[in-house]
Amino acid sequence: MNGAAEERLSEIRSRIDKAAELARRKAVDVTLIAISKTHDAQAIRPLLASGQRVFGENRVQEAEAKWPALQREFPDVVLHHVGQLQSNKADEAVALFDAIHGVDRPSLVTALAKAMEKTGRRPDCFLQVNVGDEPQKGGCPVAELPTLIEGAREAGLPIIGLMCVPPADVEPAPYFALLAKLARRHGLGALSMGMSGDFETAVTIGATHVRVGTALFGERA
Ligand SMILES: *Cc1c(COP(=O)(O)O)cnc(C)c1O
Repeated sequence: MNGAAEERLSEIRSRIDKAAELARRKAVDVTLIAISKTHDAQAIRPLLASGQRVFGENRVQEAEAKWPALQREFPDVVLHHVGQLQSNKADEAVALFDAIHGVDRPSLVTALAKAMEKTGRRPDCFLQVNVGDEPQKGGCPVAELPTLIEGAREAGLPIIGLMCVPPADVEPAPYFALLAKLARRHGLGALSMGMSGDFETAVTIGATHVRVGTALFGERA
């Protein structure tokens, strides 16, 4: 298992390198976030041993149970929260995570701003955009993004970029391009886009952060 994780990691890294080269970008400008949700410390350790330091989780409680012990061993771990975040988890999220990708509504902006005030910690924030305007999906509707950005800036959140999960089973490139255009329009430099099935496409379109779970850890139970 140890060797397998190391091989998967180096394969993903070389695919990122190739995609970056194709787009005349530098691979160092792309952060690989290993999405370790549902996987236990035993599955995570081989990736730590192989040098991976940036990880992502989608559930605050699960992350609180898993990461503090690992972080004592590997103090340079960087933790990202991805996906839906409930406002009543804002304090805990701000205390544990170094970046938060799912900021998608004014109530969460307010809760995070308060939590940052309280804790003195200021994790980088990404605003999640519902690029396909899908009713069931998290993310701010494209039309409401300017208002959300304005509110987040007024509240003093450290907004560094935009994040999206494009609609499933369709070509993702146009959605990635839309996110890149929205980020440029609003002067935001970071783009969190691309998962196991489409991270290379995302890198060619400008992703600065790719969120890869399955391709590193195997299928989730
Ligand atoms: C689970 C998850 C990922 C990783 O997805 P894979 O297809 O397993 O790579 C990426 N982003 C978010 C928001 C997720 O919830």
